Amino acid sequence: MGKRAAKPLIIAIDGPAGSGKSTVSKIVAKRLALLYIDTGAMYRALTLKAMRQGLNLEDEDALVSLAGSTKIGLEEKDKLHVFLDGEDVSLAIRTPGVTANVKYIARVPGVRHEMVALQRLIGQKHCGAVLEGRDIGTVVFPNADYKFYLDASPEVRAKRRCKELIESGQKVSEISVKEDILTRDDSDMKRNVGALKKCDDAIFIDTTGLSIDGVTEKILSYICA
Ligand code: C5P
Repeated sequence: MGKRAAKPLIIAIDGPAGSGKSTVSKIVAKRLALLYIDTGAMYRALTLKAMRQGLNLEDEDALVSLAGSTKIGLEEKDKLHVFLDGEDVSLAIRTPGVTANVKYIARVPGVRHEMVALQRLIGQKHCGAVLEGRDIGTVVFPNADYKFYLDASPEVRAKRRCKELIESGQKVSEISVKEDILTRDDSDMKRNVGALKKCDDAIFIDTTGLSIDGVTEKILSYICA
C-alpha cells in the first residue's frame, strides 16, 4: 500500500482590520513553511472587477455570476501577489474605492460560496496554510488545527492602518481611517453570511499593547508547544 499523504496543517487567523493579522499571518506562515492566504485580497479582487465593469453592486445575481467566471490567484514571490484573470492587481485592490465597496461583494451568499470553495482548495494544497480573514475559523475551516482571533482597540487599529496606507502613498488621517474601520467592522459583523465573529474554540489575542514579534511568538507558542 502507498504511503498516505500527511493531513495539511491549517491555521486560521481571524479579526477586524488593523488587528495585526496580515503582518503576523505572513510571518507565521514563513516560520512554519506554510502557504499564506490573504482571503480579504480575494474579495477585494472581485470588487475591483465588478467596479471596472461598472456592475450595479446591489445586483446579487450579477455578482454571483461574476464570481463564477473570474479567476483569482495568489502567488508568493518577494511578497504576496494577487492575480485577477491573470493580471497582477496587488496594488489596485488597495485603493480607498475598493475598500469602501468590498462590503457589497462580501455580503452575497453565492459569492462567498465561490470564495470559500477556492480558499479550501488552495488551503489544502501542499503541507498546509495560514489563512487570514473574517470567517476562516467559523466557515472556511471549522476544523482548523489552530484558530486565533486577533483584536485591538480601535485607536491602535486606526494608527496601524494609517501608517500602512501612508507608507503605500495614500493621503489619509487617523480620524478618517478610524471611521472607515469602524464602518467596516459594523458591516463585517452584521452581514447574514460569513460574519466576523470569534468562534468559541478560537484563541483570543488582544494585540493592543503587543509588538508584531510579541503576537507572532504568542501564536507560535501554541502551535509549537
Ligand atoms: O482583510 P481585508 O481588510 O483586506 O478585507 C477586506 C474586506 O473583505 C473585509 O472588510 C471584509 O468585508 C471582506 N472579507 C470577508 N471575508 C474574509 C476576508 C475579507 O468578507 N474572509
